Amino acid sequence: MTAPVGLLTLQGDYDKHRQAFAALGRETRGVRRPGELAEVSCLVIPGGESTTLSRLIDRVGLRGPLREFAASHPVMGTCAGLIMMSRELDGETPGDFGVRPLGLLDCTVRRNGYGRQIDSFTADVDISALAGRGDKFPAVFIRAPRIVAAGPNAEVVATHGNEPVAVRSGHLLGLTFHPELTSDLRIHRAFLDLLDRA
Ligand code: GLN
Repeated sequence: MTAPVGLLTLQGDYDKHRQAFAALGRETRGVRRPGELAEVSCLVIPGGESTTLSRLIDRVGLRGPLREFAASHPVMGTCAGLIMMSRELDGETPGDFGVRPLGLLDCTVRRNGYGRQIDSFTADVDISALAGRGDKFPAVFIRAPRIVAAGPNAEVVATHGNEPVAVRSGHLLGLTFHPELTSDLRIHRAFLDLLDRA
């Protein structure tokens, strides 16, 4: 039996991810402490607020253990979760102080990169590199980060127009949007495929 899917439950909208995995018949387990990583097969870092997430990760001593876990287990970060997985932050956003990314994905992101006017929107994005040919994915962006640079170790696996909105590096996946807020389960399924292949 595979261990449950881990959800980083320090902060953010992890419960929507729980529901998505439940719809796929997969059990989830919350992770708030380093020792709990031993009980899960993979991990989702949810959307929320990266300033808070970053501080809490350090407070509970999860920074090193998360990096170690990610070396050999699938991890998916959505929105603030992608910010945490990135290598570097770009630009000056008030409140960046304190966001220390984990450096798991070879990309640079700009927090709140879509500005104020359209800080939340839905767009159909191309996920064929992730989930094969098919319809575009109805992606929900909420004060989303922008991927301003993807390095050679990050494969762009979803695009909105010409712009990357998801990157993958082996078993690590980061998305600027919230796949858990739609009933389309293709991205959660693609993430589980990374697990089954690992
Ligand atoms: N803007 C938030 C941040 O910088 C992310 C928003 C989200 O996760 N929906 O952390």
